[in-house]
Amino acid sequence: AAARLGATVQFLGCLGEDAFGDALCQGLADEGIGLAGVKRTSEEPTGTAMILVNDAGENSIVVHSGANFALTPADVESKAALFEAADVVLLQLETPLETVERALALARAHGCTSILDVGSDQELPEAIWSAADVISPNVHEAARLAAVQDDSVSSRAIAEMLYLRHGVSMVMKLGRDGALYYGRDSIQLVDAFYVTPVDTTAAGDAFTGALGAFWGAPMNTLLRHANAAGALAVTKTGAQPSLPNREDLDRFMARQSG
Ligand code: ADP
Repeated sequence: AAARLGATVQFLGCLGEDAFGDALCQGLADEGIGLAGVKRTSEEPTGTAMILVNDAGENSIVVHSGANFALTPADVESKAALFEAADVVLLQLETPLETVERALALARAHGCTSILDVGSDQELPEAIWSAADVISPNVHEAARLAAVQDDSVSSRAIAEMLYLRHGVSMVMKLGRDGALYYGRDSIQLVDAFYVTPVDTTAAGDAFTGALGAFWGAPMNTLLRHANAAGALAVTKTGAQPSLPNREDLDRFMARQSG
């Protein structure tokens, strides 16, 4: 997602020595993404995900992690040079937690901004909260992390609870309501773009990719770009095919403000 939006990207992860792994490496290379951080293993198959989409465009995903869980802290450590060259490190929780923790520590040691897309039901150990610069859950994940079961609690109140408890900046993804930033310097809610959803798969990934690609822009501009990337993703079916490129994004945003 970040590479399509114009960022220079290195991928750090683990794939099996199988046809899916070959296809994914080729796919990354075709997008101009560096593969120096990709480990291949014969111990596990490449991770796969089965995605079901209903008529309202909402999805449910069954994941077989496979080789993703063969990425060890030592593997990440051996790629420390990639962190040296990076400004932003995007992470999610689809590798072992201790591997995520090591990557967060390397990001901090090298002065990179780390953005962790939580995207799962897992509890986050305090070591992860305190090592990340930005945590980005969707509204349901945020409610679970804050142990809020009451639907009437606002997303802003949930963000505040998490911020006060853990002291880490949050970018909360609010689906058709847009996005909320809650941090030390400001609190900002930016509305979503109005689109007709076809398939919400990868909206969060498009959004987070844009956060990485445009990090450093003023927060309002950043969230507007990320909302546009998410909105474009929900108008197309599939995961990778629905991640917008820079031209699509610029054209869409120009149309919306014109
Ligand atoms: P996730 O895909 O991680 O569950 P969301 O559903 O909140 O996260 O989607 C991520 C982002 O994509 C949202 O913050 C928003 O910017 C955009 N988005 C998602 N659904 C819609 C929608 N129906 N209309 C417009 N934008 C949307």
